[in-house]
Amino acid sequence: MSRSGAVANSLKSIEHFIDGKFQGGSSKETFETINPATGKVHGLVSLGTADDIDRAVAAARRAFEKGPWPRLSMRERCDVLRKIGALILERREEFAIAESTDAGKPINESFDGDIPRSAFNFQFFADFAATYVEETFTSSASERHIAVREPLGVCGLITPWNLPLYLATWKIAPALAMGNTIVLKPAEWTPYTAYLLAEVMQQAGLPPGVFNIVQGFGAGGAGEALTRHSDVRSISFTGETSTGRAIMQAASATLKKLSFELGGKGANIIFADADLDDAIPTAVRAAFRNQGQICLAGSRLFVERKVYDQVVEKIVALVQRIKVGDPLSKETEMGALISREHMEKVQSYLAIGKSEGKLLCGGERLNELGDGNFLSPSVFTDLKIQSRFLQEEIFGPALPILPFDSEEEAIELANATPYGLSASVWSKDIDRLERASAKIRAGMIWINTWFARDLRTPFGGQKSSGMGREGGRYSLEFFSEAKTISYKYKI
Ligand code: NAD
Repeated sequence: MSRSGAVANSLKSIEHFIDGKFQGGSSKETFETINPATGKVHGLVSLGTADDIDRAVAAARRAFEKGPWPRLSMRERCDVLRKIGALILERREEFAIAESTDAGKPINESFDGDIPRSAFNFQFFADFAATYVEETFTSSASERHIAVREPLGVCGLITPWNLPLYLATWKIAPALAMGNTIVLKPAEWTPYTAYLLAEVMQQAGLPPGVFNIVQGFGAGGAGEALTRHSDVRSISFTGETSTGRAIMQAASATLKKLSFELGGKGANIIFADADLDDAIPTAVRAAFRNQGQICLAGSRLFVERKVYDQVVEKIVALVQRIKVGDPLSKETEMGALISREHMEKVQSYLAIGKSEGKLLCGGERLNELGDGNFLSPSVFTDLKIQSRFLQEEIFGPALPILPFDSEEEAIELANATPYGLSASVWSKDIDRLERASAKIRAGMIWINTWFARDLRTPFGGQKSSGMGREGGRYSLEFFSEAKTISYKYKI
Protein backbone atom coordinates (compact mmCIF):
# COMPACT_ATOMS: atom_id res chain seq x y z
CA MET A 1 0.00 0.00 0.00
CA SER A 2 1.47 3.38 -0.78
CA ARG A 3 0.78 7.06 -0.92
CA SER A 4 2.35 9.19 -3.64
CA GLY A 5 5.94 10.40 -3.16
CA ALA A 6 9.46 9.61 -4.25
CA VAL A 7 11.15 6.87 -2.25
CA ALA A 8 14.28 8.00 -0.43
CA ASN A 9 17.35 5.80 0.10
CA SER A 10 17.23 5.00 3.78
CA LEU A 11 13.76 4.65 5.14
CA LYS A 12 12.87 4.44 8.78
CA SER A 13 10.93 1.30 9.60
CA ILE A 14 8.03 2.12 11.92
CA GLU A 15 6.44 -1.01 13.36
CA HIS A 16 3.62 -1.72 15.77
CA PHE A 17 4.42 -2.06 19.47
CA ILE A 18 2.54 -5.01 20.95
CA ASP A 19 3.12 -6.80 24.25
CA GLY A 20 6.37 -4.90 24.88
CA LYS A 21 7.88 -5.71 21.47
CA PHE A 22 8.21 -3.92 18.16
CA GLN A 23 6.75 -6.08 15.42
CA GLY A 24 5.38 -5.96 11.89
CA GLY A 25 1.72 -6.53 11.16
CA SER A 26 0.20 -9.91 10.44
CA SER A 27 -0.36 -8.86 6.81
CA LYS A 28 3.32 -7.75 6.46
CA GLU A 29 2.04 -4.81 4.42
CA THR A 30 3.44 -1.32 4.96
CA PHE A 31 2.50 2.19 3.94
CA GLU A 32 4.74 5.16 3.25
CA THR A 33 5.01 8.14 5.51
CA ILE A 34 5.81 11.35 3.69
CA ASN A 35 7.64 14.50 4.75
CA PRO A 36 5.10 17.25 4.01
CA ALA A 37 7.87 19.78 3.39
CA THR A 38 9.57 17.78 0.64
CA GLY A 39 7.02 15.31 -0.66
CA LYS A 40 9.61 12.58 -0.05
CA VAL A 41 8.96 9.30 1.71
CA HIS A 42 10.92 9.04 4.95
CA GLY A 43 9.49 5.92 6.54
CA LEU A 44 7.69 2.66 5.94
CA VAL A 45 4.97 1.99 8.47
CA SER A 46 3.38 -1.35 9.35
CA LEU A 47 -0.18 -1.35 8.11
CA GLY A 48 -2.38 -2.37 11.02
CA THR A 49 -5.33 -4.68 10.44
CA ALA A 50 -8.17 -5.99 12.60
CA ASP A 51 -5.93 -8.96 13.32
CA ASP A 52 -3.19 -6.70 14.74
CA ILE A 53 -5.80 -4.91 16.85
CA ASP A 54 -6.93 -8.32 18.16
CA ARG A 55 -3.36 -9.17 19.19
CA ALA A 56 -2.78 -5.77 20.80
CA VAL A 57 -6.09 -5.87 22.68
CA ALA A 58 -5.37 -9.42 23.86
CA ALA A 59 -1.95 -8.30 25.17
CA ALA A 60 -3.53 -5.28 26.89
CA ARG A 61 -6.22 -7.47 28.42
CA ARG A 62 -3.67 -9.98 29.74
CA ALA A 63 -1.60 -7.12 31.19
CA PHE A 64 -4.72 -5.74 32.86
CA GLU A 65 -6.01 -9.03 34.25
CA LYS A 66 -2.76 -10.77 35.18
CA GLY A 67 -0.01 -8.15 35.13
CA PRO A 68 1.23 -5.92 37.92
CA TRP A 69 0.22 -2.51 36.50
CA PRO A 70 -3.35 -2.09 37.85
CA ARG A 71 -2.23 -3.60 41.17
CA LEU A 72 0.62 -1.15 41.80
CA SER A 73 -0.08 1.72 44.14
CA MET A 74 -0.90 5.07 42.61
CA ARG A 75 2.46 6.34 43.85
CA GLU A 76 4.34 3.50 42.11
CA ARG A 77 2.54 4.13 38.84
CA CYS A 78 3.15 7.85 39.08
CA ASP A 79 6.87 7.24 39.59
CA VAL A 80 6.92 5.43 36.23
CA LEU A 81 5.01 8.33 34.64
CA ARG A 82 7.64 10.78 35.91
CA LYS A 83 10.38 8.60 34.44
CA ILE A 84 8.61 8.55 31.04
CA GLY A 85 8.39 12.37 31.11
CA ALA A 86 12.08 12.69 31.99
CA LEU A 87 13.12 10.27 29.23
CA ILE A 88 11.16 12.23 26.62
CA LEU A 89 12.98 15.39 27.70
CA GLU A 90 16.35 13.62 27.49
CA ARG A 91 15.57 12.88 23.82
CA ARG A 92 13.85 16.20 23.19
CA GLU A 93 15.76 17.11 20.04
CA GLU A 94 15.27 13.70 18.45
CA PHE A 95 11.54 13.83 19.22
CA ALA A 96 11.27 17.41 17.91
CA ILE A 97 12.98 16.55 14.61
CA ALA A 98 10.78 13.46 14.19
CA GLU A 99 7.62 15.50 14.84
CA SER A 100 8.58 18.30 12.46
CA THR A 101 9.62 15.81 9.76
CA ASP A 102 6.33 13.93 10.03
CA ALA A 103 3.97 16.87 10.53
CA GLY A 104 5.69 19.76 8.70
CA LYS A 105 5.52 22.01 11.75
CA PRO A 106 8.29 24.51 12.54
CA ILE A 107 11.04 22.98 14.67
CA ASN A 108 10.72 25.80 17.21
CA GLU A 109 7.10 24.78 17.83
CA SER A 110 8.08 21.12 18.23
CA PHE A 111 11.15 21.79 20.39
CA ASP A 112 9.67 24.52 22.60
CA GLY A 113 6.01 23.49 22.45
CA ASP A 114 4.87 19.98 21.51
CA ILE A 115 7.71 17.91 22.98
CA PRO A 116 8.17 19.58 26.39
CA ARG A 117 4.39 19.69 26.74
CA SER A 118 4.23 15.95 25.99
CA ALA A 119 6.76 15.30 28.76
CA PHE A 120 4.83 17.62 31.05
CA ASN A 121 1.61 15.68 30.40
CA PHE A 122 3.23 12.74 32.23
CA GLN A 123 4.68 14.92 34.98
CA PHE A 124 1.43 16.81 35.48
CA PHE A 125 -0.73 13.68 35.75
CA ALA A 126 1.83 12.01 38.04
CA ASP A 127 1.49 14.92 40.47
CA PHE A 128 -2.23 15.41 39.99
CA ALA A 129 -3.30 11.77 40.28
CA ALA A 130 -1.37 11.46 43.53
CA THR A 131 -3.67 14.10 45.06
CA TYR A 132 -6.90 12.63 43.70
CA VAL A 133 -9.37 12.32 46.58
CA GLU A 134 -12.03 9.62 46.74
CA GLU A 135 -15.32 10.43 48.44
CA THR A 136 -16.76 9.13 51.69
CA PHE A 137 -20.39 9.70 52.69
CA THR A 138 -21.16 9.14 56.35
CA SER A 139 -24.94 8.66 56.53
CA SER A 140 -25.14 7.93 60.23
CA ALA A 141 -22.94 6.68 63.03
CA SER A 142 -23.58 3.14 61.80
CA GLU A 143 -23.54 3.61 58.03
CA ARG A 144 -20.84 4.83 55.67
CA HIS A 145 -20.47 4.79 51.87
CA ILE A 146 -17.19 5.04 50.05
CA ALA A 147 -17.01 5.89 46.35
CA VAL A 148 -13.84 4.40 44.87
CA ARG A 149 -12.53 4.73 41.33
CA GLU A 150 -11.42 1.61 39.51
CA PRO A 151 -9.57 1.39 36.20
CA LEU A 152 -11.70 0.58 33.15
CA GLY A 153 -9.47 -2.10 31.63
CA VAL A 154 -8.31 -1.85 28.01
CA CYS A 155 -8.63 1.75 26.76
CA GLY A 156 -8.56 2.57 23.05
CA LEU A 157 -6.96 5.89 22.14
CA ILE A 158 -7.29 7.39 18.64
CA THR A 159 -5.37 10.57 17.88
CA PRO A 160 -4.94 13.16 15.09
CA TRP A 161 -1.92 14.45 13.18
CA ASN A 162 -1.90 18.12 14.10
CA LEU A 163 -0.34 17.76 17.57
CA PRO A 164 0.65 14.09 17.39
CA LEU A 165 2.67 13.36 20.55
CA TYR A 166 1.14 16.21 22.56
CA LEU A 167 -2.42 14.89 22.17
CA ALA A 168 -1.53 11.20 22.45
CA THR A 169 0.32 11.74 25.75
CA TRP A 170 -2.56 13.92 26.99
CA LYS A 171 -4.63 10.71 26.94
CA ILE A 172 -1.93 8.12 27.71
CA ALA A 173 -0.76 9.74 30.97
CA PRO A 174 -4.14 9.84 32.79
CA ALA A 175 -5.13 6.41 31.41
CA LEU A 176 -1.92 4.90 32.82
CA ALA A 177 -2.16 6.80 36.11
CA MET A 178 -5.55 5.21 36.80
CA GLY A 179 -4.18 1.71 36.18
CA ASN A 180 -5.56 0.98 32.71
CA THR A 181 -3.83 -0.68 29.79
CA ILE A 182 -3.81 0.94 26.36
CA VAL A 183 -4.04 0.37 22.64
CA LEU A 184 -3.12 3.56 20.77
CA LYS A 185 -3.90 4.11 17.08
CA PRO A 186 -1.91 7.21 16.04
CA ALA A 187 -2.85 9.22 12.95
CA GLU A 188 -1.60 7.58 9.75
CA TRP A 189 0.18 10.81 8.74
CA THR A 190 2.27 11.04 11.89
CA PRO A 191 3.36 7.64 13.22
CA TYR A 192 6.93 8.55 14.15
CA THR A 193 6.86 10.09 17.63
CA ALA A 194 4.45 7.42 18.90
CA TYR A 195 7.05 4.88 17.81
CA LEU A 196 9.77 6.77 19.73
CA LEU A 197 7.44 6.93 22.73
CA ALA A 198 7.20 3.13 22.69
CA GLU A 199 11.02 3.01 22.98
CA VAL A 200 10.73 5.32 25.98
CA MET A 201 8.10 3.04 27.53
CA GLN A 202 10.52 0.12 27.24
CA GLN A 203 13.32 2.19 28.79
CA ALA A 204 11.04 3.30 31.61
CA GLY A 205 10.28 -0.34 32.45
CA LEU A 206 6.56 -0.29 31.74
CA PRO A 207 5.41 -3.95 31.94
CA PRO A 208 4.72 -5.63 28.55
CA GLY A 209 1.16 -5.21 27.26
CA VAL A 210 0.40 -2.09 29.28
CA PHE A 211 1.03 0.22 26.33
CA ASN A 212 0.49 -0.99 22.77
CA ILE A 213 0.48 0.79 19.43
CA VAL A 214 -1.12 -0.36 16.21
CA GLN A 215 -0.22 1.90 13.30
CA GLY A 216 -2.54 2.32 10.35
CA PHE A 217 -5.68 3.92 9.02
CA GLY A 218 -9.08 4.79 10.44
CA ALA A 219 -12.25 3.82 8.57
CA GLY A 220 -12.09 0.18 7.48
CA GLY A 221 -8.66 -0.19 9.15
CA ALA A 222 -7.04 -0.47 12.57
CA GLY A 223 -8.90 2.55 13.98
CA GLU A 224 -12.33 1.19 13.18
CA ALA A 225 -11.39 -2.30 14.41
CA LEU A 226 -10.42 -0.78 17.76
CA THR A 227 -13.76 1.00 18.07
CA ARG A 228 -15.64 -2.25 17.38
CA HIS A 229 -13.60 -4.54 19.65
CA SER A 230 -15.65 -6.09 22.42
CA ASP A 231 -12.74 -6.15 24.92
CA VAL A 232 -12.08 -2.42 24.60
CA ARG A 233 -13.93 -0.57 27.38
CA SER A 234 -13.53 3.01 26.19
CA ILE A 235 -12.49 5.13 23.24
CA SER A 236 -10.87 8.49 23.78
CA PHE A 237 -10.80 10.19 20.40
CA THR A 238 -9.50 13.52 19.10
CA GLY A 239 -10.16 14.37 15.49
CA GLU A 240 -12.81 15.51 13.06
CA THR A 241 -16.46 15.82 14.04
CA SER A 242 -17.54 13.48 11.22
CA THR A 243 -15.12 10.81 12.50
CA GLY A 244 -16.60 11.23 15.98
CA ARG A 245 -20.02 10.40 14.55
CA ALA A 246 -18.68 7.27 12.82
CA ILE A 247 -16.93 6.13 16.00
CA MET A 248 -20.04 6.65 18.09
CA GLN A 249 -21.99 4.44 15.73
CA ALA A 250 -19.32 1.74 15.56
CA ALA A 251 -18.83 1.71 19.34
CA SER A 252 -22.53 1.54 20.14
CA ALA A 253 -22.77 -2.24 19.67
CA THR A 254 -20.33 -2.81 22.53
CA LEU A 255 -21.47 0.19 24.65
CA LYS A 256 -18.10 1.78 25.19
CA LYS A 257 -17.43 4.84 27.28
CA LEU A 258 -16.64 7.67 24.84
CA SER A 259 -14.73 10.94 25.01
CA PHE A 260 -14.62 13.12 21.90
CA GLU A 261 -12.48 16.21 21.25
CA LEU A 262 -13.64 17.36 17.82
CA GLY A 263 -13.35 20.22 15.38
CA GLY A 264 -13.49 23.94 16.05
CA LYS A 265 -14.15 27.26 14.37
CA GLY A 266 -12.99 29.62 17.10
CA ALA A 267 -14.25 33.20 17.24
CA ASN A 268 -11.84 35.98 18.11
CA ILE A 269 -13.72 39.18 19.02
CA ILE A 270 -11.88 42.49 19.25
CA PHE A 271 -13.83 45.42 20.72
CA ALA A 272 -12.73 49.00 20.02
CA ASP A 273 -11.58 49.51 23.63
CA ALA A 274 -9.23 46.49 23.54
CA ASP A 275 -5.47 46.70 23.98
CA LEU A 276 -4.85 46.48 20.24
CA ASP A 277 -1.07 46.16 20.64
CA ASP A 278 -1.71 42.84 22.35
CA ALA A 279 -4.88 41.74 20.52
CA ILE A 280 -3.53 42.13 16.96
CA PRO A 281 -0.33 40.02 17.17
CA THR A 282 -2.20 37.45 19.26
CA ALA A 283 -4.92 37.24 16.59
CA VAL A 284 -2.23 36.49 14.01
CA ARG A 285 -0.68 33.76 16.17
CA ALA A 286 -4.13 32.32 16.91
CA ALA A 287 -4.93 32.02 13.21
CA PHE A 288 -1.60 30.85 11.78
CA ARG A 289 0.23 28.83 14.41
CA ASN A 290 0.89 25.30 13.16
CA GLN A 291 -0.21 26.49 9.67
CA GLY A 292 -3.68 27.14 11.08
CA GLN A 293 -4.06 23.44 11.87
CA ILE A 294 -5.12 23.81 15.49
CA CYS A 295 -8.58 22.97 16.77
CA LEU A 296 -8.34 25.99 19.12
CA ALA A 297 -7.35 28.38 16.31
CA GLY A 298 -8.96 31.79 16.26
CA SER A 299 -10.15 31.08 12.75
CA ARG A 300 -12.86 33.77 12.54
CA LEU A 301 -11.92 37.32 13.50
CA PHE A 302 -14.69 39.81 14.37
CA VAL A 303 -13.64 43.44 14.84
CA GLU A 304 -15.73 46.39 16.06
CA ARG A 305 -16.29 48.71 13.11
CA LYS A 306 -14.74 51.76 14.84
CA VAL A 307 -11.30 50.11 14.71
CA TYR A 308 -11.93 47.69 11.83
CA ASP A 309 -9.84 49.39 9.10
CA GLN A 310 -6.95 49.96 11.45
CA VAL A 311 -6.96 46.35 12.73
CA VAL A 312 -7.26 44.85 9.25
CA GLU A 313 -4.33 46.92 7.98
CA LYS A 314 -2.09 45.89 10.88
CA ILE A 315 -3.08 42.22 10.62
CA VAL A 316 -2.24 42.14 6.92
CA ALA A 317 1.13 43.79 7.57
CA LEU A 318 1.99 41.15 10.21
CA VAL A 319 0.74 38.24 8.11
CA GLN A 320 2.84 39.31 5.14
CA ARG A 321 5.92 39.13 7.38
CA ILE A 322 5.36 35.51 8.46
CA LYS A 323 8.35 33.42 7.33
CA VAL A 324 7.13 30.31 5.55
CA GLY A 325 9.72 27.64 4.84
CA ASP A 326 11.68 24.56 5.87
CA PRO A 327 10.16 23.25 9.10
CA LEU A 328 13.62 22.21 10.32
CA SER A 329 14.99 25.78 10.08
CA LYS A 330 14.93 27.80 13.29
CA GLU A 331 13.98 30.91 11.26
CA THR A 332 10.75 29.35 10.04
CA GLU A 333 7.47 30.59 11.50
CA MET A 334 5.08 28.61 9.29
CA GLY A 335 5.87 25.19 7.81
CA ALA A 336 4.06 22.83 5.45
CA LEU A 337 0.48 21.56 5.55
CA ILE A 338 0.17 17.93 6.55
CA SER A 339 -0.57 16.40 3.13
CA ARG A 340 -1.23 17.10 -0.52
CA GLU A 341 -4.89 16.10 -0.01
CA HIS A 342 -5.28 18.46 2.92
CA MET A 343 -3.58 21.31 1.07
CA GLU A 344 -5.96 20.81 -1.85
CA LYS A 345 -8.91 20.88 0.53
CA VAL A 346 -7.64 24.17 1.99
CA GLN A 347 -7.16 25.51 -1.55
CA SER A 348 -10.79 24.68 -2.34
CA TYR A 349 -11.81 26.94 0.56
CA LEU A 350 -9.42 29.64 -0.69
CA ALA A 351 -11.30 29.51 -4.00
CA ILE A 352 -14.59 30.07 -2.13
CA GLY A 353 -13.01 32.97 -0.25
CA LYS A 354 -11.77 34.53 -3.47
CA SER A 355 -15.10 34.21 -5.26
CA GLU A 356 -17.36 35.29 -2.37
CA GLY A 357 -15.11 37.81 -0.63
CA LYS A 358 -11.96 39.84 -1.01
CA LEU A 359 -8.46 38.37 -0.66
CA LEU A 360 -6.12 40.89 1.00
CA CYS A 361 -2.92 38.84 0.98
CA GLY A 362 -1.48 35.34 0.50
CA GLY A 363 -3.48 32.28 -0.50
CA GLU A 364 -0.92 31.04 -3.02
CA ARG A 365 0.93 27.75 -3.36
CA LEU A 366 4.61 28.56 -2.77
CA ASN A 367 6.16 26.65 -5.69
CA GLU A 368 9.55 28.18 -5.01
CA LEU A 369 9.72 25.98 -1.90
CA GLY A 370 9.68 22.81 -4.02
CA ASP A 371 7.34 19.86 -3.70
CA GLY A 372 6.25 20.61 -0.14
CA ASN A 373 2.70 21.55 0.84
CA PHE A 374 3.42 25.23 1.38
CA LEU A 375 0.72 27.92 1.21
CA SER A 376 1.23 31.61 1.94
CA PRO A 377 -0.90 32.77 4.90
CA SER A 378 -4.03 34.54 3.72
CA VAL A 379 -6.46 37.18 4.99
CA PHE A 380 -9.98 37.67 3.61
CA THR A 381 -12.67 40.31 4.12
CA ASP A 382 -16.16 40.99 2.73
CA LEU A 383 -17.39 37.45 3.36
CA LYS A 384 -20.84 36.65 4.73
CA ILE A 385 -21.24 34.72 7.97
CA GLN A 386 -23.32 32.08 6.12
CA SER A 387 -20.42 31.36 3.74
CA ARG A 388 -18.91 27.88 4.01
CA PHE A 389 -15.67 29.76 4.61
CA LEU A 390 -17.03 30.90 7.98
CA GLN A 391 -19.10 27.83 8.78
CA GLU A 392 -16.79 24.89 8.08
CA GLU A 393 -13.45 24.03 9.61
CA ILE A 394 -10.79 24.90 7.01
CA PHE A 395 -7.87 23.86 9.26
CA GLY A 396 -5.38 25.92 7.25
CA PRO A 397 -3.66 29.31 7.08
CA ALA A 398 -6.68 31.43 6.05
CA LEU A 399 -8.24 34.12 8.23
CA PRO A 400 -11.57 35.81 7.46
CA ILE A 401 -12.21 39.17 9.16
CA LEU A 402 -15.74 40.58 9.61
CA PRO A 403 -16.82 43.88 11.19
CA PHE A 404 -19.56 44.27 13.84
CA ASP A 405 -21.44 47.23 15.29
CA SER A 406 -22.69 46.06 18.68
CA GLU A 407 -21.97 43.62 21.47
CA GLU A 408 -25.12 41.64 20.61
CA GLU A 409 -24.03 41.32 17.00
CA ALA A 410 -20.54 40.15 18.00
CA ILE A 411 -21.98 37.42 20.20
CA GLU A 412 -24.44 36.38 17.52
CA LEU A 413 -21.61 36.07 14.99
CA ALA A 414 -19.50 34.08 17.43
CA ASN A 415 -22.36 31.63 17.99
CA ALA A 416 -23.29 31.35 14.30
CA THR A 417 -21.48 28.05 13.65
CA PRO A 418 -22.15 24.40 14.49
CA TYR A 419 -18.89 24.33 16.50
CA GLY A 420 -18.34 25.46 20.08
CA LEU A 421 -14.80 24.71 21.14
CA SER A 422 -13.20 28.03 22.09
CA ALA A 423 -13.44 31.82 21.70
CA SER A 424 -11.38 34.88 22.63
CA VAL A 425 -12.82 38.25 23.62
CA TRP A 426 -10.72 41.42 23.78
CA SER A 427 -11.97 44.47 25.70
CA LYS A 428 -11.28 46.53 28.83
CA ASP A 429 -14.94 46.56 29.92
CA ILE A 430 -15.27 43.91 32.60
CA ASP A 431 -19.08 43.81 32.47
CA ARG A 432 -19.05 43.27 28.73
CA LEU A 433 -16.46 40.51 29.09
CA GLU A 434 -18.62 38.85 31.70
CA ARG A 435 -21.72 39.03 29.47
CA ALA A 436 -19.82 37.69 26.47
CA SER A 437 -18.37 34.78 28.50
CA ALA A 438 -21.87 33.84 29.61
CA LYS A 439 -23.46 34.06 26.17
CA ILE A 440 -20.86 32.52 23.87
CA ARG A 441 -21.50 28.82 23.51
CA ALA A 442 -18.03 27.34 23.70
CA GLY A 443 -16.17 25.07 26.08
CA MET A 444 -13.34 27.54 26.62
CA ILE A 445 -13.43 31.34 26.65
CA TRP A 446 -10.25 33.39 26.72
CA ILE A 447 -10.44 36.95 28.02
CA ASN A 448 -7.74 39.19 26.55
CA THR A 449 -5.62 36.18 25.65
CA TRP A 450 -5.51 33.00 23.54
CA PHE A 451 -4.34 29.43 24.26
CA ALA A 452 -3.85 30.03 28.00
CA ARG A 453 -4.14 26.66 29.75
CA ASP A 454 -4.02 25.25 33.24
CA LEU A 455 -4.03 21.48 32.88
CA ARG A 456 -6.37 21.08 35.86
CA THR A 457 -9.22 22.87 34.06
CA PRO A 458 -11.83 21.12 31.90
CA PHE A 459 -10.80 21.07 28.24
CA GLY A 460 -13.36 20.32 25.55
CA GLY A 461 -16.09 21.60 23.31
CA GLN A 462 -19.80 22.27 23.22
CA LYS A 463 -22.14 21.63 20.26
CA SER A 464 -20.35 19.78 17.41
CA SER A 465 -16.94 20.29 19.03
CA GLY A 466 -17.06 17.41 21.41
CA MET A 467 -18.44 15.30 24.16
CA GLY A 468 -16.92 15.11 27.63
CA ARG A 469 -13.92 16.95 28.98
CA GLU A 470 -10.22 16.26 29.40
CA GLY A 471 -7.81 17.73 31.95
CA GLY A 472 -7.18 17.22 35.67
CA ARG A 473 -9.90 15.21 37.40
CA TYR A 474 -12.02 15.15 34.22
CA SER A 475 -9.44 12.88 32.56
CA LEU A 476 -8.97 10.75 35.67
CA GLU A 477 -12.72 10.25 35.94
CA PHE A 478 -13.07 9.36 32.28
CA PHE A 479 -10.35 6.74 32.58
CA SER A 480 -11.93 5.10 35.61
CA GLU A 481 -15.23 3.78 36.84
CA ALA A 482 -16.93 4.72 40.10
CA LYS A 483 -17.90 1.99 42.54
CA THR A 484 -19.79 2.57 45.77
CA ILE A 485 -19.00 0.34 48.74
CA SER A 486 -21.44 0.69 51.63
CA TYR A 487 -20.62 -0.27 55.23
CA LYS A 488 -22.99 -1.07 58.08
CA TYR A 489 -21.42 -1.00 61.55
CA LYS A 490 -22.80 -2.48 64.73
CA ILE A 491 -22.14 0.20 67.34
P1 NAD B 1 -9.51 12.55 11.64
O1 NAD B 1 -10.81 12.46 12.32
O2 NAD B 1 -9.45 12.41 10.17
O3 NAD B 1 -8.51 11.43 12.19
C1 NAD B 1 -8.19 11.34 13.56
C2 NAD B 1 -7.86 9.90 13.89
O4 NAD B 1 -9.02 9.10 13.71
C3 NAD B 1 -6.79 9.28 13.01
O5 NAD B 1 -5.97 8.46 13.80
C4 NAD B 1 -7.60 8.45 12.02
O6 NAD B 1 -6.90 7.37 11.47
C5 NAD B 1 -8.73 7.99 12.91
N1 NAD B 1 -9.96 7.61 12.20
C6 NAD B 1 -10.47 8.15 11.07
N2 NAD B 1 -11.64 7.55 10.76
C7 NAD B 1 -11.88 6.61 11.71
C8 NAD B 1 -12.92 5.68 11.94
N3 NAD B 1 -13.98 5.58 11.13
N4 NAD B 1 -12.83 4.87 13.01
C9 NAD B 1 -11.79 4.96 13.86
N5 NAD B 1 -10.75 5.83 13.69
C10 NAD B 1 -10.80 6.65 12.63
O7 NAD B 1 -8.85 13.91 12.13
P2 NAD B 1 -7.47 14.54 11.67
O8 NAD B 1 -7.63 15.05 10.29
O9 NAD B 1 -6.37 13.60 11.99
O10 NAD B 1 -7.31 15.76 12.70
C11 NAD B 1 -7.82 17.04 12.46
C12 NAD B 1 -9.12 17.22 13.22
O11 NAD B 1 -8.91 17.01 14.60
C13 NAD B 1 -9.68 18.62 13.09
O12 NAD B 1 -11.06 18.54 12.91
C14 NAD B 1 -9.36 19.24 14.45
O13 NAD B 1 -10.18 20.31 14.85
C15 NAD B 1 -9.52 18.07 15.34
N6 NAD B 1 -8.81 18.29 16.60
C16 NAD B 1 -9.56 18.53 17.73
C17 NAD B 1 -8.92 18.79 18.93
C18 NAD B 1 -9.69 19.05 20.19
O14 NAD B 1 -9.10 18.98 21.26
N7 NAD B 1 -10.99 19.33 20.13
C19 NAD B 1 -7.53 18.80 18.98
C20 NAD B 1 -6.81 18.55 17.81
C21 NAD B 1 -7.47 18.28 16.61
